[in-house]
Amino acid sequence: MNRYPHLSEPLTVGSVTLRNRVVMGSMHTGLEDRAWDINRLAAYFAERARGGVGLIITGGYAPNREGWLLPFGAKLTSRTEAYRHRTVTRAVHAEGGRIALQILHAGRYAYVPFSVSASSIKAPVNPFRPRALSDRGIERTIEDYVRCARLAQFAGYDGVEVMGGEGYLINQFLAPRTNKRTDRWGGTAANRRRFPLEIVRRIRAAVGDDFLLVFRLSMAEFVEHGQTETEILELARELESAGASVLNTDIGWHEARVPTIVTSVPRAAFTEFTAKITAQVNIPVCASNRINMPETAEEILTRGDAELVSLARPLLADPDWVNKALATREDEINTCIACNQACLDHAFARKTVSCLLNPRAGHETELLLLPTRRRKRVAVVGAGPAGLSAAVTLAERGHEVDLFEADDRIGGQFDIARRIPGKEEFAETLRYFTRRLELTGVRVLLERRVTAAELVAGRYDHVVLATGVRPRIPDIPGIDHPKVLTYAELVREEKPVGRKVAVIGAGGIGYDVSEFLTVEGHPTLKLDEWKEEWGVTADDPEARGQLAPPRAAPAAREVVLLQRKSTPFGRSLGKTTGWVHRAALQAKGVEQLGGVNYERIDDRGLHISFGEKRQRPRVIDCDNVIVCAGQESVRDLVEPLEAAGVTTHLIGGAELAAELDAKRAIDQGTRLAAGL
Ligand code: FAD
Ligand code: NAP
Ligand code: SF4
Repeated sequence: MNRYPHLSEPLTVGSVTLRNRVVMGSMHTGLEDRAWDINRLAAYFAERARGGVGLIITGGYAPNREGWLLPFGAKLTSRTEAYRHRTVTRAVHAEGGRIALQILHAGRYAYVPFSVSASSIKAPVNPFRPRALSDRGIERTIEDYVRCARLAQFAGYDGVEVMGGEGYLINQFLAPRTNKRTDRWGGTAANRRRFPLEIVRRIRAAVGDDFLLVFRLSMAEFVEHGQTETEILELARELESAGASVLNTDIGWHEARVPTIVTSVPRAAFTEFTAKITAQVNIPVCASNRINMPETAEEILTRGDAELVSLARPLLADPDWVNKALATREDEINTCIACNQACLDHAFARKTVSCLLNPRAGHETELLLLPTRRRKRVAVVGAGPAGLSAAVTLAERGHEVDLFEADDRIGGQFDIARRIPGKEEFAETLRYFTRRLELTGVRVLLERRVTAAELVAGRYDHVVLATGVRPRIPDIPGIDHPKVLTYAELVREEKPVGRKVAVIGAGGIGYDVSEFLTVEGHPTLKLDEWKEEWGVTADDPEARGQLAPPRAAPAAREVVLLQRKSTPFGRSLGKTTGWVHRAALQAKGVEQLGGVNYERIDDRGLHISFGEKRQRPRVIDCDNVIVCAGQESVRDLVEPLEAAGVTTHLIGGAELAAELDAKRAIDQGTRLAAGL
């Protein structure tokens, strides 16, 4: 039975037929920036095309140097560059896929001192002030877009996508926030629209009718002085008349203070905006953002909110997403958990983009998972992310694997993480591993705290120790007071806590625990509540930037979050997600105290002082103290196994507790298993 009749339906746009409704949204991987990485880029796209995607859209290529995202970033301005792209287009076409090149002019987001924009207004997220383009400069820039589109056609692409959202150059022309011009390119909404419409008109004239021309527009901006809904809908209608063949949608500017892609954003949160655009035009519209499972995608298409769905990060996590969905093997999908840890956080750190769940992403030519020539017996101890990834990869390569887990379920620390409000998606990862363990034939032995003697007696060829971490218990007088709980006891064992709570340690877990404590009953936020909390409105067509006053629900508890260092809070949080956690705690009124000494814990509460001189003693009156003071490796099995001459390998938290996260755990597990 085809559970996804809409998703699987082909769509013909002009002369191009897409084999289904799934578009791989544009992602900048870093590979585009380096000519010598073109084969890697081709392998990366080919794997997604083989996975069944209907249309792939590349990362952004600048139409000229001023439009560079970064110095010496990706651009397409010459035939020499275009020739190289044929490696990519051929690889995708050989797999039956279609591919369009995204043209992205960064405008004031360009991290170069010679950036340009509609007006000379600095972006809050970039130190460089752009120069306002002159009328001649605008004309030249439009011609650069056209040249880029023609070069894409020459390189064998099926089309181009013009990036007109996310606060990049075109968006900077469209919004009064960044366009203060008084000439024919600014002032009235019609004048502000002139730049994108000219680009589309002239590209269409240059490439002919058979070439796909996708325009990606901001369907909601989430910045002050952004476009109104009325203006956006008018733009959509005029883009169709100008020659766009598909409208792709986008949400929020980079400088917006409404989260749009992090894991706490409800799935398909923005399709009501998409539906409004769909209602205005006769060309296909593509929905995007937080669509990570086929049921969600099918619902969007069934409701008629859009005719296509764009998935970006979900195809990093699982290149075979489409094939699995269309074969109703959705329980095998490695679902993107929207953590950003190995994709966007890497992009911002100028590292090659990959995926926390799929370390092969972006490394397709180097991390090969080939069948083994000699089947070995391997014991994997610990079913946290490190042990799970090692076990399934080993078994998939043909080894015989026993997976021992002390607990009555798989997941380790990740099973705690999934209980944090806003991290519900993490449960999908455990569902995926459960299914993969079944499919690969790993022998899973739950409630088996295996000993060294048992492992020696098992005569395994290899023992992989993925025994992970346990919470660190700091040496504070009174730490054994009954009001003290570890984060694991609080979240996993659901031990009761009072209304006033102190949290020791402000790392990732301290933040998560504080969010857990401030939300009563830990419900998943419904879309309406989420919109209210972050101040999003879809009800006022004249509201600039689709913003309303945010109204967070009151905090369920009084929480004080503490750390010993006096550096700013939240430094260890993700580059692209940390601000969301910081804002969420601020909205809940969580007090943050840095530079503290923990003096003791007693019936009165947590006694602290500040600084090296132990000044300003204070008692934090609290019912409970939750310890989130980092972790220590569990490595009791190492010595006895090594003494017995067993070949052992340490991965994940068992190898090193410092700066551990699931990204490292899964990467180590997969890479070890690839080489055994
Ligand atoms: P663990 O997850 O500790 O797994 C080790 C397993 O080994 C356990 O199941 C244990 O029972 C088992 N074991 C130990 N000894 C034995 C034995 N002798 N026999 C059998 N079994 C044994 N990471 C991120 O990347 N992103 C996040 O957003 C994130 N959020 C988090 C939020 C919270 C609240 C928590 C607690 C953690 C979070 N983490 C996050 C961290 C992430 O979960 C850990 O880094 C990861 O789980 C470590 O994996 P591991 O396999 O090395 O160890
Ligand atoms: P962490 O980030 O290392 O934070 C540990 C905290 O405990 C620090 O704030 C530290 O600050 C404090 N601490 C350390 N030793 C202490 C001691 N002896 N006494 C009192 N306080 C002490 O570790 P974590 O929060 O446990 O997180 C574990 C891992 O999970 C992290 O590496 C993180 O990447 C991952 N994680 C990630 C996310 C995410 O959203 N990406 C979320 C949760 C967890 P002071 O030393 O200043 O007191
Ligand atoms: Fe999704 Fe996280 Fe992988 Fe990025 S790193 S693709 S957000 S699971």
